[in-house]
Amino acid sequence: MIVKQLYADNRLRNFHYLIACEMTGEAMVIDPLDVERCMHEAKANGFKITKILNTHEHWDHIDGNTEMKEKTGAVIYAHNGAQGKIPDVDVGLKAGDIVNVGTSVSLRALDTPGHTDSHICLLTDDDMPALFCGDTMFNAGVGHCKLGGNPEKLYDTFNRQLSLLPENTLIYPGHDYMINNLEFTIDREPDNETAKIFLGNLEQQNPHNAYVSSMKDERKINTFLRLTNRSVIENLRKHFPDLSENPTQKEVFLALRELRNHW
Ligand SMILES: [Zn+2]
Repeated sequence: MIVKQLYADNRLRNFHYLIACEMTGEAMVIDPLDVERCMHEAKANGFKITKILNTHEHWDHIDGNTEMKEKTGAVIYAHNGAQGKIPDVDVGLKAGDIVNVGTSVSLRALDTPGHTDSHICLLTDDDMPALFCGDTMFNAGVGHCKLGGNPEKLYDTFNRQLSLLPENTLIYPGHDYMINNLEFTIDREPDNETAKIFLGNLEQQNPHNAYVSSMKDERKINTFLRLTNRSVIENLRKHFPDLSENPTQKEVFLALRELRNHW
């Protein structure tokens, strides 16, 4: 599997992905917005785009569909619940469905509600697992729930699926928000030395060549995966004095999500 992460260089800091089969050169594009950039990269690498996948229905993940389809004839995949929300979806996906790219790439659909109700993540199940997670999970953070989402569902998605992924899983999100997210983690947990080292190393990074974190990193630097950490809990108490004496992981997650909304 060849993965090209493309930074859109826009206000929302979108990432697009080209996932290509090295045997056939066929490629799938995830969440195209900057169509020209995607087409240029595909051409430069000799890829033929045959599939478009939208992780969810927000405009900044689907607005390139029409132009991309016109230029390539690619088939559009999305969550089966997003078929009324995203125009011209050809294939609706449900949990466990497999999306193949060429002859060598196979990705499994995860049903991951929370950021929106109809959000799909894709996971490769090989020696080098990779998660294409749209706006459900970011490097060092998680998606908001303000535009059609639900924080309790987002917690369930993490609790039952994403937090269980193996350490070597690479995290490919829909936006470059890592610096802000690291700052939020450090504000929650001022004694998190690993997060401080990451922030120091990444502050000057070029988003066109962004660091790709792993689940091993995420468990150290993503506050939403550190729900039993004493510093995180004691710090939250300053903002949520009613937090229980021994809060559940769900309570901590929901408080963090709430705080992140106006942080
Ligand atoms: Zn979104």
